[in-house]
Amino acid sequence: MALSLMAVALCGVIFWLLREPLAKSWRRRRLRSRAFPHEWREHIRRRFPYFSALPADLQIKLKRLVQVFLAETPFIGCNGLAITDEIRVTIAAQACLLLLNRRTDYFPNLREVLVYPDRFIVDREAANPTGLVTRQRQVLSGESWLTGQVILSWQDVLEGAARPGDGHNVVIHEFAHQLDQETGPANGAPLMFGKLRYARWADVLGREYAELQQRASTGQESLISDYAATSPAEFFAVVSELFFERPRDLASEHPSLYAQFSDYYRVNPLSW
Ligand SMILES: [Zn+2]
Repeated sequence: MALSLMAVALCGVIFWLLREPLAKSWRRRRLRSRAFPHEWREHIRRRFPYFSALPADLQIKLKRLVQVFLAETPFIGCNGLAITDEIRVTIAAQACLLLLNRRTDYFPNLREVLVYPDRFIVDREAANPTGLVTRQRQVLSGESWLTGQVILSWQDVLEGAARPGDGHNVVIHEFAHQLDQETGPANGAPLMFGKLRYARWADVLGREYAELQQRASTGQESLISDYAATSPAEFFAVVSELFFERPRDLASEHPSLYAQFSDYYRVNPLSW
């Protein structure tokens, strides 16, 4: 009797622990099974030419990811920008590229996307190595915060989407930071499963990052911009942009790096 009471109590605890993940998974399955709105397809076709280059199965996956992403993510317009479906869909389609084949909980820390009409100004305090604190004004096209906010300039989102082969995409960049921030402050080491994968990642990216810093310090030109040499977090975000937008160049100039990103993102843009 005591044993069966314990079994019932245990089942109750297991059900209580699983009820939220189960409800989330059921809700997402229902969202993915809905018809993709015709107007959304039109926004993607008009604003995001990259989409048509994807294989058919990945196009379907991307649309399903967009449906869940948009149902779960609030968008906030800043400086008078009114949020429209065109803005939401154009941003979501690019962000969800990072999720395509990955075992993913979408962007679990993401709380909201803030969109400015154009570049925005931030004032920050920065300390130099001597401890001197100065106030700096920066003009930004995007930011990703550890507290779950992604902030984007709509003008830069549009330009990034319209030129899919130039290696610059602010949505890919900032959402790569969000992935990196799943495990704490961005450090270029996003969540991965398996010690061996982490070790390979650290080995390859550490080497490539050191080489880039060396090249940047001597003023040598490189496929990977000097901005990527400012921190491992920026290196990960900048190379993510190249991986999706210039896979041939990245694979030919940095094959080991390409292989690591292909392993992490679980896609092979070389074949698209
Ligand atoms: Zn960045």
